[in-house]
Amino acid sequence: MDRTQSARWFARAERVILGGVNSPSRSFKSVGGGTPVVMARGQGARIWDVDGNEYIDYLAAYGPLVLGHAHPKVMAALREATYDGILYGTPTRWEVEFAERLQAAIPDLERIRFVNSGTEAVMTTIRIARAVTGRNKVIKFAGCYHGHSDAMLVAAGSGPSSVGVPDSAGVTPGTAHDVVTVPYNDLDALRAALAVHGEDTACVLVEPIVGNFGIVAPASPTYLRDVIDLAHRAGALVIFDEVITAFRFHYGTAAQMYGVHADLYALGKIIGGGLPIGAYGGRRDVMEQVSPLGPVYQAGTMAGNPASMRTGMACLEVLAEPGIYERMDALGRRLAEGIRQLADTYGEAVTINRVGGALTVFFGSHAVRNYADAQATDGVRFARFFHALLDRGVCIAPSKYEAWFVSAAHTEADVDQTLAAVEGAFKAMAAER
Ligand code: PMP
Repeated sequence: MDRTQSARWFARAERVILGGVNSPSRSFKSVGGGTPVVMARGQGARIWDVDGNEYIDYLAAYGPLVLGHAHPKVMAALREATYDGILYGTPTRWEVEFAERLQAAIPDLERIRFVNSGTEAVMTTIRIARAVTGRNKVIKFAGCYHGHSDAMLVAAGSGPSSVGVPDSAGVTPGTAHDVVTVPYNDLDALRAALAVHGEDTACVLVEPIVGNFGIVAPASPTYLRDVIDLAHRAGALVIFDEVITAFRFHYGTAAQMYGVHADLYALGKIIGGGLPIGAYGGRRDVMEQVSPLGPVYQAGTMAGNPASMRTGMACLEVLAEPGIYERMDALGRRLAEGIRQLADTYGEAVTINRVGGALTVFFGSHAVRNYADAQATDGVRFARFFHALLDRGVCIAPSKYEAWFVSAAHTEADVDQTLAAVEGAFKAMAAER
């Protein structure tokens, strides 16, 4: 596959954009290097690079593109959003309508605020929890990513169940001191952390289905309920980070799938239909702590911008149509089962975690239930697989910790073409063994 133009553009990028990328996850650092592909166009389940190479896309821009690229209703909403100017810095009807639609889908969002990113949404919910409880500490789960606010860069990598260590330079010891990390899917560890830090804990923050060390679901159907009970018994609030999960698996939250209720939710990605967005919301009494009603400050020049409201609305309108999630689930299953079979045929040890249309192929034969399990999978084999797929026209995220996202635009034919590429990749990898 000729990627001369990609290489040219990326060389130019590196001279002006730090590291050539506007988000580190886009670099190929964690897949043994190479030049990131510079994309030019997307349509449905396909994207094309600047050399004109075509790929079946499972990156989905790290999640938002649940309808695939350039869905006609979303594109129409985006066009219409430009007819009357772009931004007013005032309330608009679109943010009202969109908030009403979100609340109708997710009744736990008694009050909502729109922001510009998942990072902002999570960051603000933590501030609110601290204000409400008068406590400082946050308990989070090792390996979970909640955006790049200072506190959330603590143990976004490994972490013992003690006070965390920042994974980024530039985070103060004071900030790190306020973040406690426990392994996901381990109630005893959470209990132990609460026994030590419970009286200082403002909130327990959880991705109800993890999307950030690969797809990892609760190991038991009661896990989330127990997390919530333990947190509440300690007097802490529960924040669900549903930036990846909301509207991913059904028309609503992961909380609804498990029949549980958090105090606050952070949303993003899918709800913007591909434009920048974040949102947070939850219990009315808790949300009323936010300015202008309460003492917690949060603001944003671009917050609730009409374009994101309107593309988000269009995206949710399509997602509300019957059968979409069933289709994505069926395609996800077809893909996962196909990869499983091919892995067995070619002697590749893989563990596939899947929820609906989202799945992760881990190189290893052990179950992946927490970050340590994910870390113990083979990154070198993953990197080989990643490049082999890319060269065969299949685009997935360049990290062993990410998910493949099947969109509503994918078809059985796309999945079958993907499986042919996977077979080619496994064959090539087997030949090198
Ligand atoms: N929370 C979760 C669970 C995420 O996956 C992400 C982004 N990958 C974020 C928060 C941060 O969102 P954003 O990139 O929009 O700031």
